[in-house]
Amino acid sequence: MPATRSRTKAAARRPSSRRSPSARASSRTKARGVAEPAQMAVYPGSFDPITNGHVDIIRRSLRVFPRLTVAVAYNPNKDQAMFTPAERVDMIREAFADVGDRIVVDSFTGLLVDYADRIGARVIVRGLRAVSDFEYEFQMTMMNRHLKPNIETVFMMADESYFYTSSRLVKEVASFGGDVRNLVPDFVLDRFAPRFARKPRR
Ligand code: ADP
Repeated sequence: MPATRSRTKAAARRPSSRRSPSARASSRTKARGVAEPAQMAVYPGSFDPITNGHVDIIRRSLRVFPRLTVAVAYNPNKDQAMFTPAERVDMIREAFADVGDRIVVDSFTGLLVDYADRIGARVIVRGLRAVSDFEYEFQMTMMNRHLKPNIETVFMMADESYFYTSSRLVKEVASFGGDVRNLVPDFVLDRFAPRFARKPRR
């Protein structure tokens, strides 16, 4: 339409110093083929249940990204998890009840990259423990990049005190009455209690 075209031409003629800072930044970024920074990141996992290792990664992610969706992944056909997706979501919400709307907790099934697209996340956050995580995470990252090249994966490392903490190991130790007090939030211990004959210590 002529009106639009003349406005566009006028804007193009306007010296760059008179354009708004965001317009200048946007034309600079476009010129270099660089995308705008991500507002929403997604941290996916089983979270069966949330551990202090996860809590640490989430806190670190909130220092980097304005908003974070923590997404519980589940497979309705072959989910061998101890807690239901709803229970896992509840526990994560409880751990971050003080954070407000910078964090969203959700669950999903299907391909992670499709879910990320649906919620408008362009960054996937994953945590790395010892070298043993690397091989699997590397393959997943490459596959996700193959499926959706516009989605980046970033890795974070938790505090060294959680380097050996995993949901699987915590469940195993707790099931034999072992002490997992500093490895999961306290309310997770309460959720373990009715499931195990020998109650984990509090
Ligand atoms: P998965 O089911 O793939 O093991 P989890 O639900 O256990 O995933 O964890 C989700 C993500 O959090 C994964 O990237 C995993 O490597 C990371 N993670 C879990 N525990 C820790 C920890 N103690 N320190 C760092 N990263 C962790």
